[in-house]
Amino acid sequence: MAKQILILGGGYGGLLTALTARKHLTASEANITIINRFPTHQIITELHRLAGGTIKEQAVALPLQRLLGNKQVNIVVDTIKEIKPDDKKVITTSGAVHTYDALVVALGSETNYFGIPGLEENSMVLKSASDANRIREHVEARLDAYKASGNKADATIVVGGGGLTGVELVGEFADKLPEVCRSKGIDFSDVSIFCVEAGPAILPVFPKVLIERAVESLEKRGVTFLTGVAITEATKNTVSLKSGQTIESNTIIWTGGVKGNPVVGSCGIAEDRGRATVTSTLQSTSHSDVFLAGDCAVVFPEGGERPYPPTAQLAWQMGETVGYNLSVQVKGGAMDKFVPVFSGTLGSLGRKDGIGTIGGNNTQLKGLPASLMKEASNIRYLSHINGLSALAY
Ligand SMILES: Cc1cc2nc3c(=O)[nH]c(=O)nc-3n(C[C@H](O)[C@H](O)[C@H](O)COP(=O)(O)OP(=O)(O)OC[C@H]3O[C@@H](n4cnc5c(N)ncnc54)[C@H](O)[C@@H]3O)c2cc1C
Repeated sequence: MAKQILILGGGYGGLLTALTARKHLTASEANITIINRFPTHQIITELHRLAGGTIKEQAVALPLQRLLGNKQVNIVVDTIKEIKPDDKKVITTSGAVHTYDALVVALGSETNYFGIPGLEENSMVLKSASDANRIREHVEARLDAYKASGNKADATIVVGGGGLTGVELVGEFADKLPEVCRSKGIDFSDVSIFCVEAGPAILPVFPKVLIERAVESLEKRGVTFLTGVAITEATKNTVSLKSGQTIESNTIIWTGGVKGNPVVGSCGIAEDRGRATVTSTLQSTSHSDVFLAGDCAVVFPEGGERPYPPTAQLAWQMGETVGYNLSVQVKGGAMDKFVPVFSGTLGSLGRKDGIGTIGGNNTQLKGLPASLMKEASNIRYLSHINGLSALAY
């Protein structure tokens, strides 16, 4: 009888698991079901462009039906409420109860507000296409309000967090807002864009020379970086900093931290600070019928003490390993160990500028070559998941 494989999450880890498992398992060997809270697979690495208004939602939200419908994968749009690994059950907010022979948990991460007073209530995040739409609409509405009232807080944007997400977002604002302001009859020099980072520098994954390049490029286009200062409190229209400075702003976007998904951290599988611990074959260290892919797992290099950073490229590769290992779980054989391949890191600084390190020897890229490479890496991913045709719906 066909085994029941249940995949939770239709992001990078979940989608790649489903696509790979189906390559190795026929429909008579396994029923594969994927449950995701959205009907779309979202290209999170490009969300800053939707938030800035340089691309449409269709470019970052691909219908799962288009990607998986012809692969004999059942798609359920629902939200996971509880995982009961000892009973082999998953319960959703709609009240449905799903059972499984093998479970894949690929539910990603959640925003970490680090307990900063007022931050969660008063900031927006960039984790989904709807978040990106909300940010774009909010920024435009505040600029309209600024035009009407002249209240500077409406023309001030504060992005908390100087990692890839925060920097790519301010890069998009720096590129797009001059045009938006022109269309509204606002002088762009009235707009203030702050990027606040508690650490000593933005983009700590990059070498110093590329960080300096990013700062120089974005400051020239109107971004102010405040580094080495933590946000200590946020209200509806102010951001307080550890330095004592208070910025009056009606637009606060928090990109400064992620934590494990609480549904995973609290379900009873072994975890480390909210992220599931895994074996070298990406099975839960406590439940061998539960596999993990993506940000909700913590993966250490062999013999290493620091876990790999949560990234899309890792989630994608974990999904492929898990997809294959599911076929071994069903049919027997030796499972693959997860061995990540790092192709590099690319960051966009707006449409025509970027930085990156690529290849085994960390070749540095900057300017147009880096942005073209970032574009190419997105196209490569889309083509890998057969997403290019899904874009044209
Ligand atoms: C704005 C932004 C930019 C980024 N840029 C880069 C980059 O340039 N390069 C890079 O490598 N990484 C980047 N990252 C990190 C990367 O996006 C993540 O590491 C990657 O998405 C992890 O994949 P995942 O499959 O674990 O989770 P996700 O892709 O987040 O997928 C999780 C899925 O589970 C669903 N889900 C979550 N909870 C529930 C629930 N309770 N019920 C049902 N469904 C649920 C979500 O809706 C989502 O579809 C970026 C992250 C952000 C936020």
